[in-house]
Amino acid sequence: MEIAKRTENGSGQCVHLCRPPPAPDLPMQHRGADSGSAVFWRPWIDDGGEKEQEAPHNAVEAVPLKQGRSLMDWIRLTKSGKDLTGLKGRLIEVTEEELKKHNKKDDCWICIRGFVYNVSPYMEYHPGGEDELMRAAGSDGTDLFDQVHRWVNYESMLKECLVGRMAMKPALPKDYHEEKKVLNGMLPQSQVTDTLAKEGPSSPSYDWFQTDSLVTIVIYTKQKDINLDSVIVDHRDDSFRAETVIKDYSYLVHVALSHEIQEDFSVLVVENVGKIEIVLKKKENTSWKCLGHPQENHNSFIPKKDTGLFYRKCQLVSKEDVTHDTKLFCLMLPPSTHLEVPVGQHVYLRLPITGTEIVKPYTPVCDSLFSEFKEPVLPNNIYIYFLIKIYPAGFFTPELDQLQIGDYVSVSNPEGNFIISQLQELEDLFLLAAGTGFTPMVKVLNYALTNIPSLRKVKLMFFNKTEDDIIWRSQLEKLAFKDKRFEVEFVLSAPTSEWSGKQGYISPALLSEFLKRRSDTSKVLICLCGPTPFTEQGMKMLHDLNFSKDEIHSFTA
Ligand code: FAD
Ligand code: NAD
Repeated sequence: MEIAKRTENGSGQCVHLCRPPPAPDLPMQHRGADSGSAVFWRPWIDDGGEKEQEAPHNAVEAVPLKQGRSLMDWIRLTKSGKDLTGLKGRLIEVTEEELKKHNKKDDCWICIRGFVYNVSPYMEYHPGGEDELMRAAGSDGTDLFDQVHRWVNYESMLKECLVGRMAMKPALPKDYHEEKKVLNGMLPQSQVTDTLAKEGPSSPSYDWFQTDSLVTIVIYTKQKDINLDSVIVDHRDDSFRAETVIKDYSYLVHVALSHEIQEDFSVLVVENVGKIEIVLKKKENTSWKCLGHPQENHNSFIPKKDTGLFYRKCQLVSKEDVTHDTKLFCLMLPPSTHLEVPVGQHVYLRLPITGTEIVKPYTPVCDSLFSEFKEPVLPNNIYIYFLIKIYPAGFFTPELDQLQIGDYVSVSNPEGNFIISQLQELEDLFLLAAGTGFTPMVKVLNYALTNIPSLRKVKLMFFNKTEDDIIWRSQLEKLAFKDKRFEVEFVLSAPTSEWSGKQGYISPALLSEFLKRRSDTSKVLICLCGPTPFTEQGMKMLHDLNFSKDEIHSFTA
């Protein structure tokens, strides 16, 4: 069969002065979290368990917000039609000099990824406090924002505060990193690619070829540790997007295809040479003259932290009670998506709540502890499962709980810093989980028991308030019975008088008894996850018990 082959190098990003796409306008609803009384919110980065009603004995410092300054109050203000920028809806091009002038609380502009916002009206609503926002006053706050809450959907939250875009700098400065703070997110992509390629992993490339009925896009990653979860493919209408994660970098092929293709495609990985092949089926057996037209950030290779999160809409296919407040949600990926969430990583779920896109992180699990871990994962794995605790007074989870089968929720690309190689040649794996901090342990446990031949013991210490709060208790007990390498111990912080097991919060006494290493040389990993005070105290105790940094992994956002 004759193979016609063409390559394409198109790239280039066009910067227009335009508003980010508006979030859909939904009717206002009144929600439980909108109490109107003085509220204590932590920065968005960690917004779960530390806001317990039971006062934790060592809670992380919270920022008191004034009355009427909740997230819901902010959303209301943005919908009021008030001119929040002081520019009467005009968008302007902002020079660096201009940006620097707006550095006071009552006149504070901040640039995030090339867009400039007047954040003065937002000051009192910021969960992290005014001082935190002022750190970026009159400057490019992208790096600061990324450090604290990269995943927050600021475009939607601050859309009424948009002043305009930064004026483009004429040329790339000699030392990119010196100038990065000012130019972040605004450099022509081809220049970013060239500069960064010298420092990070060597630049990937792509190529394509066709037969009568197929078009194959080949990505040469030039890395050996590539597998099926390294590439995420989305095809919508004529837009084709393949993002390959290579170490901390992201390589993007993003084109508007020149011809129509069928819904299903296959993804193949040749691991030993780091080659990824995406095989598309043509709708009509005609010869393509070109693959298509480059779209935003096409052929770019940039640090992952500098890329925006990409979302696709997934359908809720089932929702099952697991405990009195925790449910197992099953979402189905759209048909033209290839996405596998790597072990230990999380995604962000996004829902419009009263017209504003709200985003929270969640960690996919397996459908049960007994579903065998497939490695490499099958490309036609179209379901993603989540164990999610519903907080009646929470902002996001009651909305999730309201979803009906068939409704949609947007799911982002995966994030996280757990690396599967941390499990290689492991002998003892200790898991310390509190509440829904159990979720990252599910895949870690499943993967380790199935794929790590050196493993001799996996011990889970699972901290909960009461017996009723224990997620998958009977499955855990069955697994311990079935697989002698696995042991589980439950510790309750608010047990009933009938509870005869361990009690209390995480403590040095509990840990030193539980974490018995086999020998001085045995390879050990301790994973921990739960409310922030739990994780922070646990980390300190583990250091005091002389476990090294390499032997500890804490799951955080
Ligand atoms: P929030 O509005 O954040 O409220 C949470 C709690 O705080 C509630 O009890 C609420 O009553 C209380 N509260 C709210 N506002 C206040 C206030 N002003 N003063 C005092 N208390 C208040 N969760 C899961 O269930 N499953 C997962 O797999 C999961 N994975 C995660 C992964 C990562 C990386 C991270 C960082 C978190 C994860 N979480 C997970 C937690 C999740 O992201 C949310 O924080 C959680 O679902 C709560 O969201 P919410 O908006 O409903 O509640
Ligand atoms: P919870 O309130 O039911 O508490 C569970 C247990 O955590 C308690 O029984 C106690 O042992 C411990 N704990 C709670 N507060 C403590 C404190 N102040 N000091 C020491 N120990 C304490 O927990 P939950 O409502 O299920 O919340 C789970 C938390 O885990 C949330 O904050 C969520 O954001 C976090 N989480 C994080 C990730 C991640 O970072 N990857 C994943 C899932 C969940």
